[in-house]
Amino acid sequence: MHTQITVYCPRCKGHNIKKNGFDDNQKQRYACKDCTRRFIFMPITRKQVKWLSLFGVSMI
Ligand SMILES: [Zn+2]
Repeated sequence: MHTQITVYCPRCKGHNIKKNGFDDNQKQRYACKDCTRRFIFMPITRKQVKWLSLFGVSMI
């Protein structure tokens, strides 16, 4: 069963996201194509993702 984690921009909430390499901790880095915001999204459990979504995602 495939679980899709939805990644969206913490600034504009857009889903027009592209992968942007990895940070020093090997976390996937993303960039928003709409507003150029770069951020890291940490897929954990679905429950935690839901909780994290209240804050958007952590930013670098
Ligand atoms: Zn954006």
